[in-house]
Amino acid sequence: MTSPLLAELSRPRPERPRLSVITPVFNEADAIALFLGSMFPILNQTGCDWDIHFVNDGSTDETLKVLLEGVKRSHRIKLINLARNFGKEAAMTAGLDLVDADIVVIIDVDLQDPPELILNFVAKWREGYDVVYGVRESRRDDTKLKRSTAQLFYRLFNRISRTKIPSNVGDFRLMDRRVVEAVRQLPERNRFMKGLLAWVGFSSAAVPFHRSARAAGQTKFRLHSLWNLALDGLFSFSTLPLKVWTYIGGLLAMSAVGYAVFIIGQTLLFGTDVPGYASLMVVLLTASAAQLLSLGIIGEYIARLTIETKQRPIYLIEGEYDRGRLLGNADGGAQQTSENRPEGRLNRVNN
Ligand code: UDP
Ligand code: MG
Repeated sequence: MTSPLLAELSRPRPERPRLSVITPVFNEADAIALFLGSMFPILNQTGCDWDIHFVNDGSTDETLKVLLEGVKRSHRIKLINLARNFGKEAAMTAGLDLVDADIVVIIDVDLQDPPELILNFVAKWREGYDVVYGVRESRRDDTKLKRSTAQLFYRLFNRISRTKIPSNVGDFRLMDRRVVEAVRQLPERNRFMKGLLAWVGFSSAAVPFHRSARAAGQTKFRLHSLWNLALDGLFSFSTLPLKVWTYIGGLLAMSAVGYAVFIIGQTLLFGTDVPGYASLMVVLLTASAAQLLSLGIIGEYIARLTIETKQRPIYLIEGEYDRGRLLGNADGGAQQTSENRPEGRLNRVNN
């Protein structure tokens, strides 16, 4: 479906755009060859000048070695090597900060995001859309627990956050250059990318796909990291959990007044009654549970504030590698390290 209005509104798009793929990798030595094998033929069909930027997120297996071999073999493969494991959100941020292209595609290395969809993404971009994301039509290969908790999360998030994120949309997406530039302006350390990418807006289109099982290796997201990611998302995109305590406190106070009136009336009419142990306990426990819970929620926000105020960079880069540098026919063979990196990129977030 073409959308002539959009195409007209958006600035003219280059005939042969530069496309950069960003792929965060963490201990994925087995998956990389399979990934490259399916990506090359697809990207060759896009009609773009393309390259793949792997962001090595502090892998401890053979990933770095495999990637460096890849970089040496092909000028299409580039490597951004982070100083340690900063997490997928930080790795994607590093990629978005460092690439310079008309179109950027973020894709996982495990082939759970089908590379052939990139062709549809590019077609949509040519129609005038700035963001094209993949929507998981079926998650048959995810566990039942993951599916139901994911659904619950999306529902809760969209209810309490002003920024709405479409259900079953991952990080797999295409972005126009101007969207990437918009995302670069967001300085926060708590990087819930799905939320940030939705926050910037721009015209977007969805392309449905079937999410299959991993091609190799194992998921890097255990239940507790998904839980933390969900909390990050909720607390950095909504202040409702913080505000709701005013109302809960108000409600509890009102019921306390009601109960007090009831007890006073009872005492005046029927004399002093033996105080009920059960009612006392219930009131006490409810009130202290509410207090602890509200304190906990405040703690969640304060913890995030603490992290934000420290102003530490979101990621640190050990080096950037491409074929020219590795083979020594550019920069005299020197690899880029944090010392000779242009100021402002590495510490972009410190500005
Ligand atoms: N990943 C990463 N850093 C991490 C964890 C994961 O760069 O700390 C990468 C991982 O190598 C993969 C992508 O993020 O390319 C998605 O990870 P995974 O497939 O484990 O997540 P799932 O698909 O199970 O949600
Ligand atoms: Mg995966």
